[in-house]
Amino acid sequence: GGADLECDMLVLGAGPGGYSAAFRAADLGMKVVLVERYATLGGVCLNVGCIPSKALLHVAAVMDEVSHFESLGVSFGKPTVDLDKLRAHKGKVVGKLTGGLAAMAKMRKVTVLRGYGSFIDPHHVQVEETGGEGQERTGKSQTIRFKQAIIAAGSQAVRLPFMPQDPRVVDSTGALGLSAVPKRMLILGGGIIGLEMGTVYSTLGARLDVVEMLDGLMQGADRDLVKVWQKMNAPRFDNIMLKTKTVGAEATQDGILVRFEGEQAPKEPQVYDLVLQAVGRTPNGKKIGADKAGVAVNERGFIPVDVQMRTNVPHIFAIGDIVGQPMLAHKAVHEAHVAAEVAAGEKAVFDARVIPSVAYTDPEIAWVGLTEEQAKAQGIAIKKGHFPWTASGRAIANGRDEGFTKLLFDAQSHRIVGGGIVGTHAGDMIGEVALAIEMGADEVDIGKTIHPHPTLGESIGMAAEVAHGTCTDVP
Ligand code: FAD
Repeated sequence: GGADLECDMLVLGAGPGGYSAAFRAADLGMKVVLVERYATLGGVCLNVGCIPSKALLHVAAVMDEVSHFESLGVSFGKPTVDLDKLRAHKGKVVGKLTGGLAAMAKMRKVTVLRGYGSFIDPHHVQVEETGGEGQERTGKSQTIRFKQAIIAAGSQAVRLPFMPQDPRVVDSTGALGLSAVPKRMLILGGGIIGLEMGTVYSTLGARLDVVEMLDGLMQGADRDLVKVWQKMNAPRFDNIMLKTKTVGAEATQDGILVRFEGEQAPKEPQVYDLVLQAVGRTPNGKKIGADKAGVAVNERGFIPVDVQMRTNVPHIFAIGDIVGQPMLAHKAVHEAHVAAEVAAGEKAVFDARVIPSVAYTDPEIAWVGLTEEQAKAQGIAIKKGHFPWTASGRAIANGRDEGFTKLLFDAQSHRIVGGGIVGTHAGDMIGEVALAIEMGADEVDIGKTIHPHPTLGESIGMAAEVAHGTCTDVP
């Protein structure tokens, strides 16, 4: 008793995980309540992540592309940038998608509740209504009784404790706000998010420094892929500081003064107009009253789940960033479908062999499955097919032949176990490699598949032929 609203399925959080779960559950006949503290659906990905970053990266890539056109006999002159219009464009892109989600929720009769949700027991969530731009409480609240629930409360950016509270110190959300273009910008953390945002700001005119504790940028990807990106992007950076960390910072009139320690640390503290903290994301597991429902949360804030996305409480599921790495939208969506289907009584499991990763920098870096480094570390014998884009007609025609495609095959079975692509549109192509791995394809399957000519995607077929020893297109 005592509930203001009852439902079959309560979904907490409306990011890619939450809305996908809510929609699938509704399609399977459940009465669904979707709780979201912010005004729009879509979570981090649509509002302050994947989508707005790609809207800005597209503009940056076009600006960079045309800046090389003079040597081709076409000149556009020096670009002028109207930040207000650019921001408005980004807002429109986001609005189209979040508006679309709201319409889809309505069509499916999913009840969307705006508010901050926390569990009060294993079958009730309290929703404190929020309003305005952010998550300000209005003072109203209601209690929802649910039969089953899916936790999709996502993650948030990690803030370093010694960083001053100052508008010149931002996380990715602040950086996407694009309030101004700084002269000197420090990127804290050399991962995908930091380097994507750095690409945008540098194309718009900022000089970049990046500091990374580990011994290379873009951890997780094979070094040969990263090297191609790094060579082309070197002109954006004044300092790439590896094996180095920030140990202190203070806000001064001239900028944010940052002190470094480590192998490649500058002796003097450096002053920046903008500091982007991109040192990782932390799950929101400890902020939703999970203990009241009996749901276990580990010390880092992740919620452990089984292959059916069930938490330790069988009628409560969890999906997306809050259940662990990799924190990616496409992983969240697939987990969401599994959770909703299992809740509806279907025999689903999350059984992806591989989850692709993409850095939407210029050139893009995309990889999936086993990397060469992992194969070496795990003592797995592999056969490699490496196809340089200097042998790709399309890449040459595009004036962008710096990239390459490589496929890794199990030396015994000849089945594909991994692949990496660096070059323009690498992210759009990596899906084929993921499919090949899921299907257990071998060198011949991929090499004998006729790819359209001339495309960058051909390089995947060619790389398979290189591995098989039948490629006639490379010397
Ligand atoms: P989220 O998207 O974090 O959604 C969780 C939702 O729950 C949020 O809307 C939050 O407001 C809500 N919420 C949390 N707690 C409560 C509560 N108690 N009550 C009510 N509501 C609550 N991934 C990719 O795959 N590709 C990319 O290109 C990519 N680019 C990115 C760029 C940036 C700058 C960032 C920051 C991330 C990027 N990601 C990308 C990661 C991607 O955004 C996340 O993996 C994805 O959003 C996770 O989805 P989710 O549903 O688990 O959680």
